[in-house]
Amino acid sequence: MLNDKVAFITGGASGIGAGTARRFAQEGAAIILADVQDEDGRALQDELREQGARALYVHCDVSEADSVRQAIESGVSEFGRLDIVFANAGINGVWTPIEELHPEEWDRTLNINLRGTYLTVHYAVPHLKKAGGGSILITSSVNGTRTFSNPGASAYSSSKAGQVAFMKMMALELGRHNIRCNAVCPGAIHTNIDERTEKRDTDKIGIEVELPEGSPALHEGQGEPIDVADTCLFLASDLGRHVSGVEIFVDGGASLLR
Ligand code: NAD
Repeated sequence: MLNDKVAFITGGASGIGAGTARRFAQEGAAIILADVQDEDGRALQDELREQGARALYVHCDVSEADSVRQAIESGVSEFGRLDIVFANAGINGVWTPIEELHPEEWDRTLNINLRGTYLTVHYAVPHLKKAGGGSILITSSVNGTRTFSNPGASAYSSSKAGQVAFMKMMALELGRHNIRCNAVCPGAIHTNIDERTEKRDTDKIGIEVELPEGSPALHEGQGEPIDVADTCLFLASDLGRHVSGVEIFVDGGASLLR
């Protein structure tokens, strides 16, 4: 479904990014993995190559302009073009009452999640235009539009809401260049992201959100990276050729009552 396409995936070394890289590679795409986790990124590059896919890992900190520019340039010079961009790298950051959230903690979350998305799209768009069009995907979150059950996640939720607004502006701006832009908004997906979350005193906020009885959720508990990857495949491929400017929840319906 993605034969001859080249995909640049940030946060490609683990979780949703890695799952999507495997899925896109199965469908024939060449994969550029961009991440700060060099060991895992190289291991996935080698795994994909062993399966006959074209793959390249590049070290890339999405919050640094030169790093993103160089990663995209390296990938394009390796594979000759760029068709699909998946701005997926992200962190949960620090979840804590607002009085205790330090300015540098706010900045770090916004810099990786939102500035990183901007930088990725900013440096990728000239290559997409050169290819005659393409598909941009952004990993936001159900938290981008719902408070969900994560009290204290003010910086995270703000970054995720910003990504949705940014995605809509890009869909508007780039449509006439045959570039579509969409966001996936996962609910709880089984990855390592929670282990990297710093929660401080969230109990002091005093808000617990319980899933109501009789929830319409199709799948209680966590989804898997493949659930997001399959949605991305739809959006990235010609299956989604008439879809642009939308955020798609990938949460089994769990947020309907939240
Ligand atoms: P993950 O931690 O497995 O993957 C995130 C990847 O981003 C990691 O490989 C990490 O090294 C990379 N990364 C972090 N900072 C980076 C930086 N500065 N530059 C480049 N790469 C960086 O977690 P995941 O769950 O796969 O997260 C992927 C995306 O999905 C994130 O944007 C996250 O906010 C979003 N998301 C995840 C869930 C979930 O439940 N897992 C829910 C909603 C949204």
